[in-house]
Amino acid sequence: MRPDILNPLFAEITALKGVGPALARPLDRLKLRRVVDVAFHLPTGWIDRVARDELMEADVGRTIAITLTATDVRAAAGRGPVRVHAADARGNIATLAFFGGQGGWAKKLLPIGEPRRVSGRLDRYGQDLQIVHPDILDGEDGFREREAIYPLSEGLSSRRLHALAEQAVGRAPALPEWIEPSLKARHGWPDWRDALARIHADPADAKARQRLAYDEVFANQLAMALVRADTRKRRGRPLAGDGRLRAVLALPYSLTGAQARTVAEIEGDLAQASPMLRLLQGDVGSGKTLVAALAMLVAVEAGGQAAMLAPTEILARQHGETLRRTLAGLPVEVAVLTGRDKGSVREATLMALAAGEIDILVGTHAIFQDAVRYRDLALMVVDEQHRFGVAERMMLAAKAKAPPHLLAMTATPIPRTLTLANYGEMDVSRLDEMPPGREPIETRVMSEDRLDAVVEALGRHLADGGQAYWVCPLVEESEKSDLAAAEMRAEALRRHFGERVGLVHGRMKPAEKDVAMAAFAGGRLGVLVATTVIEVGVDVPNARLIVIEHADRFGLAQLHQLRGRVGRGLGRSICLLLRGSTLSETSRARLALMRETNDGFRIAEEDLRLRGAGEMLGTRQSGEMAFRLATPEMMAELIAAAQDDARLLIDRDGGLEGARGQAARVALYLFDRDAGVQLLRSG
Ligand code: ADP
Ligand code: MG
Repeated sequence: MRPDILNPLFAEITALKGVGPALARPLDRLKLRRVVDVAFHLPTGWIDRVARDELMEADVGRTIAITLTATDVRAAAGRGPVRVHAADARGNIATLAFFGGQGGWAKKLLPIGEPRRVSGRLDRYGQDLQIVHPDILDGEDGFREREAIYPLSEGLSSRRLHALAEQAVGRAPALPEWIEPSLKARHGWPDWRDALARIHADPADAKARQRLAYDEVFANQLAMALVRADTRKRRGRPLAGDGRLRAVLALPYSLTGAQARTVAEIEGDLAQASPMLRLLQGDVGSGKTLVAALAMLVAVEAGGQAAMLAPTEILARQHGETLRRTLAGLPVEVAVLTGRDKGSVREATLMALAAGEIDILVGTHAIFQDAVRYRDLALMVVDEQHRFGVAERMMLAAKAKAPPHLLAMTATPIPRTLTLANYGEMDVSRLDEMPPGREPIETRVMSEDRLDAVVEALGRHLADGGQAYWVCPLVEESEKSDLAAAEMRAEALRRHFGERVGLVHGRMKPAEKDVAMAAFAGGRLGVLVATTVIEVGVDVPNARLIVIEHADRFGLAQLHQLRGRVGRGLGRSICLLLRGSTLSETSRARLALMRETNDGFRIAEEDLRLRGAGEMLGTRQSGEMAFRLATPEMMAELIAAAQDDARLLIDRDGGLEGARGQAARVALYLFDRDAGVQLLRSG
């Protein structure tokens, strides 16, 4: 249960004065729904205003606040601005310029002959002094020398958000201290409530900001440390494989150094009584599946069962086939179970699983439904980990009598700080070496204006017996428009290449998707037009060209994953990134980086730098709560200390019963990491 002390903060946002349904709507767009959300909606910058009585040349370039009286209004000429001439108390004149239809608004706020307090950056325009789009500071009380700037949505102003934040801060209780005293002293951090009040009063207050960021990172690490401690203290079962299955496994190649090292790490973990919690990070194509297969063989050699969870139906079936192929000739029974399997097929699989006749079960979430009983689940592999959150991981672990060993795999090479933030409870192995013989993928950036040339190149590629993916743009607004774009593209390409063009998208029935994928994998289709459903794991070695439309809309990590669909076979592969005709500097830099490197870990670090952690940690990608207070830079600085302290606290006070432990519980609730607290009770 949430500590009562937090109740005022967890009240609905409408508890704040002045927030009715009309204001709740724009606030909701910013995900501000509770009082605490407003308190944690921190200003991202500020304006320093200088109060002046008089317009002065010397202030050009400064943001000033001054009382001016409008003397006349010039209507807009063509696309030019509406210009209001306004005088200070001594008769010095400045032009206030309003562009783009803001003129009517200006006339209302600056009636001729009435003094108004205005503020903005003083510029020179020809001979005149000018302020473009000044703020009208209604009444003296609206003036602040330093004014906070908040992230906004339509219908909200920074001033409004600031007033709400002050109310929220007013409701904030003093909280017991959860930060380790010497750490707090060393940084000179204020108390929590102080920090909150200070940051809204002065967005430049670095100590206050850093303390709040630390709180958030600490709560995050504490939740993970609880998961880790909970897993660790439960006795799992040591899995000592005798090697009999691996000895007869005939691989057409030898393991890479990274694979061999990782397999050894996993074997070491599996031999322990406390369950393994290991994350395997490896770029697309680095050979994670084989590592997983070897780990599962250890479990089977030790007499247990292994389950492998895939994020999509397509991937589950593909993994099933790969495993059957890899393990052909071994006395190992591999089965696949997805939500699509119904009736007698499903019943038969469930019976065999309960009887222990199935050694390895591959599937989607369906393999962890209540009706699914394992005889002896010893190892769980979760592929494409980023789709599953901590909460899900905990739920899955609860399935087994003794907690199974867990191997999580992700092809999203995330930066080290984010690995800690997202998988702080795990040990990490990295496959940082590609299997030999891969040619790097050649990446080119082309303007979408040159679509004809792209289609021509695709034609040549098909004529040479190649296959290609064509990825349609990510459309933010809805899955529907996503789909429309893909359907239109498929139709357009069919005019050139007829029935050799197939289509897969997220709204197709799983069976239809499988048919299209199978047709592509079997070579009956030459071009597969797709939305991002092909993002993870799909393996068609003969596909050596990928075209990605509107590449500038994708995150770099995602582009990198998409690109990894090619370059899986022999011969050179090409990735064509199509870009819109206008590009921001950042987009340009990002696409240039894609062209320059195939190194996923480097791309990840850069992506973080260019976009910020908020987006990377968004609910969509990680399944975790996004970070609201800690920027990537702050996280890089604070997260290691937070992890150390969280683990230390739990080592000393596993139940979080002591004074600091109780305070730390409050922090978990405050940052919506309270799933961790549930573990305390179950233990
Ligand atoms: P990912 O890490 O993206 O899941 P996969 O496991 O699908 O990568 O492996 C990519 C390809 O590399 C597969 O075709 C696989 O058979 C091959 N492969 C894996 N390990 C090796 C190795 N040690 N030597 C050569 N090829 C390998
Ligand atoms: Mg894979």
